[in-house]
Amino acid sequence: MTETAFLRCIADFCGATVDVSTTEFRCPRCNGLLDVAYDWDRLTPPKSLKDLEAGWTRRMDPIDFSGVWRFRSLLPFAPSGQIVTLGEGQTLLQRADAVASFAGLDSGRLFLQYEGMNPSGSFKDNGMTAAFTHANMVGANRAACASTGNTSASLAMYCSATGLMKGIVFIGSGKISYGKLAQALDFGALTIQIDGDFDDAMSRVQQIAGRLGIYLVNSVNPFRLEGQKTIMFRVLESSGWEVPDWIVVPGGNLGNVSAFGKAFAELKALGLISRVPQFAVINAAGADTFDRVFNKLRLRWKDGDFDRVAYQSYIETMDREGRRADTLASAIEINRPVNLPKALRAMSVCGGVVGTANDQEIMDAKARVGAGGFGCEPASAASVAGLKKLRKEGVIARGDRVVCILTGHQLKDPAATVAYHGSDNRQFQSILGQRGVTAAPFANRPVPVVNDLDAIIRAIEGVP
Ligand SMILES: *Cc1c(COP(=O)(O)O)cnc(C)c1O
Ligand SMILES: [Zn+2]
Repeated sequence: MTETAFLRCIADFCGATVDVSTTEFRCPRCNGLLDVAYDWDRLTPPKSLKDLEAGWTRRMDPIDFSGVWRFRSLLPFAPSGQIVTLGEGQTLLQRADAVASFAGLDSGRLFLQYEGMNPSGSFKDNGMTAAFTHANMVGANRAACASTGNTSASLAMYCSATGLMKGIVFIGSGKISYGKLAQALDFGALTIQIDGDFDDAMSRVQQIAGRLGIYLVNSVNPFRLEGQKTIMFRVLESSGWEVPDWIVVPGGNLGNVSAFGKAFAELKALGLISRVPQFAVINAAGADTFDRVFNKLRLRWKDGDFDRVAYQSYIETMDREGRRADTLASAIEINRPVNLPKALRAMSVCGGVVGTANDQEIMDAKARVGAGGFGCEPASAASVAGLKKLRKEGVIARGDRVVCILTGHQLKDPAATVAYHGSDNRQFQSILGQRGVTAAPFANRPVPVVNDLDAIIRAIEGVP
């Protein structure tokens, strides 16, 4: 292997390596997942994390402006001239005392990482800029993904903003929020709405990509995870390079937790950090594969692999029983997480727990996040809802320093938000009630007032 970056099978027993120019993202020998791997001895990683701040002084250069690529010495797979960036990753780590108090943490101990501030409104842009860069390196002219919405919005944006590729997005019927569908359509992507759910769309897009030679940007694409590592770099940077006690993240396809685990494993191996945080991955109760296989089946990353047979038989049972993912947190409505093996590995690197939050808990947490400033979409609030439960169970202590990742923007799914806060009971029932949400204790109800000056003044001053 002469290149300093290459792909390597994540399974130790296999360890097959593949040239970085491939567009097949499965191991040719064992069909497992691939990592982007680096020959660090022949590269120049930063000597200390503080060195990374130097990029800030060169912000007029787009690759130093990017919150992903200013960390490029830690994801060095692309020549600088081929990097495709839209200024992603200008996100915020915000101390959130009101939300801390809701979750049961001491003041000053909870920080929210607002990835909804990315150009397409979700963390997916961190990964998309990296996958898109790789697609650009290999000369692809079409790119596709299956999506619960945000990946397609992100892909569509990179395609239209750069003009480098034609975007094709696969979505399940009726399972996508309007905010996200609007983005894919508005950005001009070819939008294939198949008669099935996300898991169906996912398996189809893999077939199609192989058949038609279309570049695949789903999170099975290991380059996406390289970009998503930078979410952790920014969290550390915003914390003065101090490692928090916990990272709490919603779990869907498990790309984020996988990327975060890789980030910390590499930082540790490079001697750039001395300790790692623990992870809390929160599934929606209605899409809880990771929770079940981690906590009930007790699947673990062990000796560089996991029990593929046990997992396969779990999936077969799930299919036989006709269990389909069902949650209003549509971005994590996934029952076959593509990155499960990498997520198990991430848990072995950092330790931690996997939990669930139901749609009631998610919507309540979302309302508290919104009231605390900036806001997020339902899937993102699973992190705060999960944190609250883990606090109650005593898994997380009230003095622990916790970072919750808010994966998507408040305006991605306004229907759920308006149904929660509004006073239209039919809307509440059709959007929330059928998902098991029975109450809206944190609703901020709109106040109906007749068009009369005194009545409006009474409504504002609170006089009956
Ligand atoms: C994609 C997505 C997730 C799920 O992330 P994974 O990395 O697939 O686990 C969670 N929240 C939002 C808003 C998303 O768009
Ligand atoms: Zn392999």
